[in-house]
Amino acid sequence: MELKIIRSKRKSIGITVGSNEVVVRAPHYLTDKKIKLELKEHHLWINEKILEQEKKNRISNNYFESGMFLYQGEDIKVIKNQGKKILLEGGYIYIGDDSKIDVFLKKQLSIVINELILKWAYINKPTSITYRKQKTIWGSCTIKGKINININLIKAPVEVIEYIYIHELVHLEIRNHSKSFWLRVEALLPDYRQSKRWLKDNGYLIGRDFMVK
Ligand SMILES: [Zn+2]
Repeated sequence: MELKIIRSKRKSIGITVGSNEVVVRAPHYLTDKKIKLELKEHHLWINEKILEQEKKNRISNNYFESGMFLYQGEDIKVIKNQGKKILLEGGYIYIGDDSKIDVFLKKQLSIVINELILKWAYINKPTSITYRKQKTIWGSCTIKGKINININLIKAPVEVIEYIYIHELVHLEIRNHSKSFWLRVEALLPDYRQSKRWLKDNGYLIGRDFMVK
């Protein structure tokens, strides 16, 4: 968040929180010191608005407007790029054409998933993986051993991606959510509850609600 001070002929101070800046409109006669005091006085309200805005930015698909891109659990700053390519570099994401975002998400997620397939191959392996953009579920699987993964999952930390993968992988053996299912998940990923918690808290990232089938 950046602070922008705009002076004009107005008589009183006005504070607004935008998608990536806090704008203070102040009369000409008000000194910087006075403005800072005003900000301090309203810091609780400002912080609340910033948090609300950050939550909105995280679900926004307008990356240029929000200036933010959630990637593997981290908020990355977006820089508009001249070319068409999308690049992750030095802690920034350079986006040229945002209509290419879904292809990019899928590609990045498939890199993580391919590593997980190798890591857990000694347990089991899906017959194939399908990447989808879905509004209500993170992952699912079919009777034939195919695993479907939501491309938005790349927004989650790697441990969470791994939990979803393991959840579906265990479903290939145990179709329900019985006690033995959860014991099996726990045996493979002792900390899986933290990932479940993350998904519960951040379910809004893919829509109103979410499920893991
Ligand atoms: Zn399930």
